[in-house]
Amino acid sequence: MVISGKELAAKLKAEMAEQVKTFPDKYGRVPHLVVILVGNDPGSQTYVRNKEKACDVVGFKHTTYRLPEETSGQEVLDRIVELNTDDTVDGILVQLPLPRHISETKVIETISKEKDVDGFHPLNTAALWQKRPNNTCIIPCTPMGIIKLLEEGGVEIAGKKAVVLGRSQIVGLPISKLLLDRNATVTICHSRTKDLPEVTRQADILVAAIGKAKFVTGDMVKEGAAVIDVGMDLDENGKLCGDVDFASVEPKASVITPVPGGVGPMTICCLMSNTIQCFLNSR
Ligand code: NAP
Repeated sequence: MVISGKELAAKLKAEMAEQVKTFPDKYGRVPHLVVILVGNDPGSQTYVRNKEKACDVVGFKHTTYRLPEETSGQEVLDRIVELNTDDTVDGILVQLPLPRHISETKVIETISKEKDVDGFHPLNTAALWQKRPNNTCIIPCTPMGIIKLLEEGGVEIAGKKAVVLGRSQIVGLPISKLLLDRNATVTICHSRTKDLPEVTRQADILVAAIGKAKFVTGDMVKEGAAVIDVGMDLDENGKLCGDVDFASVEPKASVITPVPGGVGPMTICCLMSNTIQCFLNSR
């Protein structure tokens, strides 16, 4: 079964839109997401446009500050500090990557943890890694989207062997913790993992987040595995593809996510739900 992240995201956004319609009566206004985009990275421009569209669908107020490439790090930090104390703003997202002269770490640490809709602030990360994360902790969007895709696909997580390819702060590590919290037995692989196909063939649930086009092939996957493809790569013809070679893996997988139309739309959908969470947490 191919799980469509596009369809699931559309359904969840429609549900959020219904919820948001009730907010003006209950709370006097709708959630407000502010996005800061520095520079001209074409990928980032597309992501930000898609986030704006999603805000329109769910009925949020949204503001995007498009700042020139040469904006100083201090200017970005000053803008964030202003937004942190602005009671009409519920979520702040600084689109990454930033131009090289701006410290991403400083930017992430400056966003108030209560408005950190990406869930990258060290205090949100620390909360996620506590033994029992509390439900006010903001979870990064891509890993949360993966869990929702597994749920949609009817994949049981408890007691299963999960293998995560990649140990990044934004995907590999947090999805490993979310799977562990749901009682999977989790193996995290990286560029120094030996005999990788041996490890991936053990997986009941395989999450690929390494950024290498069509890296995971059918011979690396166990019959009946659930395969989640996080990759957003370009194939030999410059076309968007994932970390999984869909053609050889799909016949073996019990469920699989496509690229495009899998994890990507769910990431934006979870950004919307994180914004609602930040809004409600501060009521
Ligand atoms: P990243 O920071 O580039 O990290 C890549 C990870 O993969 C590292 O841990 C690296 O190991 C590991 N790796 C690299 N080559 C490997 C190999 N041959 N075998 C095993 N592990 C290997 O990755 P990321 O930011 O998590 O992104 C991963 C992919 O997901 C990219 O294609 C990105 O565009 C995509 N992505 C998609 C979304 C979405 O919404 N769909 C969101 C975020 C990212 P080391 O740690 O040893 O270097």
